[in-house]
Amino acid sequence: ADHRNGSSEPLIKLPTIKFTKLFINGQFVDSISGKTFETIDPRTGELIARVAEGDKEDVDLAVKAARHAFDHGPWPRLSGSERGRIMMKFADLIDEHIEDLAALDTINAGKLFNWGKAVDIPQTAHNFRYYAGAADKIHGEVLKMSRELQGYTLREPFGVVGHIIPWNFPSAMFSMKVAPALAAGCTMVLKPAEQTPLSALYYAHLAKLAGLPDGVLNVVTGFGPTAGAAVASHMDIDKVSFTGSTEVGRVVMQAAATSNLKAVSLELGGKSPLIIFDDADVDKAAELALMGILFNKGEICVASSRVYVQEGIYDEIVKKLVEKAKAWKVGDPFDPTVRHGPQVDKKQFEKILSYIEHGKREGATLLTGGKPACEKGYYIEPTIFTDVKEDMLISKDEIFGPVMSLMKFKTMEEAIKCANNTRYGLAAGIVTKNLDVANTVSRSIRAGVIWINCYFAFDKDCPYGGYKMSGFGRDMGMEALHKYLQVKSVVTPIYNSPW
Ligand code: ADP
Repeated sequence: ADHRNGSSEPLIKLPTIKFTKLFINGQFVDSISGKTFETIDPRTGELIARVAEGDKEDVDLAVKAARHAFDHGPWPRLSGSERGRIMMKFADLIDEHIEDLAALDTINAGKLFNWGKAVDIPQTAHNFRYYAGAADKIHGEVLKMSRELQGYTLREPFGVVGHIIPWNFPSAMFSMKVAPALAAGCTMVLKPAEQTPLSALYYAHLAKLAGLPDGVLNVVTGFGPTAGAAVASHMDIDKVSFTGSTEVGRVVMQAAATSNLKAVSLELGGKSPLIIFDDADVDKAAELALMGILFNKGEICVASSRVYVQEGIYDEIVKKLVEKAKAWKVGDPFDPTVRHGPQVDKKQFEKILSYIEHGKREGATLLTGGKPACEKGYYIEPTIFTDVKEDMLISKDEIFGPVMSLMKFKTMEEAIKCANNTRYGLAAGIVTKNLDVANTVSRSIRAGVIWINCYFAFDKDCPYGGYKMSGFGRDMGMEALHKYLQVKSVVTPIYNSPW
């Protein structure tokens, strides 16, 4: 509890760090090597705690526990409503610990505390309730077979699942992966990002309190190339569900292919376009565009990092954006008036600043921002570039920070062409009052989610994931439940037929 807020007066009592060990087979344990690693507060760059550093041997133990829980334990054999009941209890416990969980994600990932309390952690609980409600509604189909055969399908749990998750939404991401897999009857090993191990361990503790049997959920904290790679290449994991960079997604898929051909789902990077047409309300559109890139300090894979504005309102939008960006407050994420906190770590902070330098060198015009925002910690100013050309790095690469590329277009056809000119396909936004335009553009853009006159309108019922190099497979909604189920066909003759 030494971790004070950046301001002189502490705004809230910071949580005591209770869980820093691996969670394997229902117990908190040290890593076999005894090694630990530092977890850092990005508000100050200072140490929060040391956390157990899991490696291959620890992943082996966790998989053994998950395999035993799957092959012999109660979890896959419980009725769906019994699984649902435990998940509901887990959700209630999450609600009871909102303050602690939100504070952990604030000190570990630099996320806004109030937003965590009001939105992120409650939604994490809701995700568990949503899939808890689905756990007793998993069923197959009766098949219309030819000849004298009858057939039906069973939906069975996929088996032992490995989840590898990133640091930008430690809580939401945990629930998006774990909740549907639990509802399906799978058992699992989760590897949180090395930057944000704290809340995942806390969730593991709450899951145990809720009555989740030992071995069903294991959490191995550690680094990507060691613990993460051990998950991706494990011979006894049936499916790996990964969210992170496109670069690492490729490595995970290769490891899956060269080990046991485990099934893979990948949710990867993005460079999502937001297209603002002439008929838009300028003030609202500018607000949306800014929120689309600055929310969670741009550390969100669906961020609207490319903004295309139709020529008729371009100048007005530019003016509004700069005005609003200058008024956007960056600072301690515990301060309720702050709109965004620090980037997650020094590496990301430096990477973003180097992209900004690159943008300047390539000849884009820096309209506002471009510098660190505070003396200490990893804060970056809201940054807007204009005169960005399609072949510039800042318009092609995912920067994962508060950096917008602004571009002008004339016709809808041109906007569609530019929007699709990317290797990614995670999300897109459209701002217009014209229904025909909205419909045409939504169907023409190759991306997993299209937001019309809104952005980041997430809901637990809405599947999302990528087209193209943004990956495949969907998180959230019933699609995610099906991701953790296998279909088995059962066929039998109706009469004593020659078959
Ligand atoms: P980011 O660039 O957003 O940090 P990464 O793709 O590097 O995203 O990380 C996402 C997750 O993937 C983290 O949990 C990280 O530890 C893990 N990871 C990184 N490298 C590997 C790897 N070689 N194999 C498996 N997992 C990895």
